[in-house]
Amino acid sequence: MWGPAIGPPAIYGGYSEGCLRGAVALPLDGAGYQVVRPAWHRNFGHPDLIAFVQRFGERIEAAGLGVMPIADISQPRGGPISGHVSHEIGLDVDIWLRLDLPRLDPGARDDLTAVSLVSGATGEVDPAVWTPAHAEAIRLAAIDDRVARIFVNAAIKRALCAMDWDDPSWLRYVVPWQGHDAHMHVRLHCPEDDYRCENQGAPPEGTGCAALMENGDSDPERGDMYGRGATPRPPGVMPRQCINVYSLPAAAQ
Ligand SMILES: [Zn+2]
Repeated sequence: MWGPAIGPPAIYGGYSEGCLRGAVALPLDGAGYQVVRPAWHRNFGHPDLIAFVQRFGERIEAAGLGVMPIADISQPRGGPISGHVSHEIGLDVDIWLRLDLPRLDPGARDDLTAVSLVSGATGEVDPAVWTPAHAEAIRLAAIDDRVARIFVNAAIKRALCAMDWDDPSWLRYVVPWQGHDAHMHVRLHCPEDDYRCENQGAPPEGTGCAALMENGDSDPERGDMYGRGATPRPPGVMPRQCINVYSLPAAAQ
């Protein structure tokens, strides 16, 4: 298998057009999480993202919420990845909103599927599957300092907005986006010292709950999945440094 490019971690480009050097693999098992579909080899990320998943798993375990299934992060050197418009620089991770899975042998995780929390009939969360524990799992991700945005279906954000929270300020980072009815897509900020990594501007202040009610299923001000920076390259154009990243030898695993 083609491994991560050797060298210290470095990100080139943005969430939807970029690559990275020095990625590391998320271990298939850890406190409060398990990697699903390990045969896809999409459990590679920037060390900051790997550390985030491990912190998040510890919070999930401490809260007694079960074992979170961790799906796609990035390929070993980032870059375009089928089925996604982002996940290119090791700072995005899909976390299935399933709390019912026991810890399984890695070989038994390749045929698993995500389960939608949104009813096709009503367009709102399905009370037969959606629980306060799902909401708490999203909150436990959103309160992490390194998290820039979490994309979920608008119905899921509506359900979160309708709940009573002592401090709802974390809802600022929850962004309604099409699909995302069976998983949350967590995106981290660029590492502070990596100037070649193209950050997405911060979402506007406030929870965005009123905007969601006004705009129906969207809140365009809150940002999008593409996450292009202030001075984006043309869509689909990779930073030229990625040619170098793809030609470097693989790091020892
Ligand atoms: Zn995603």
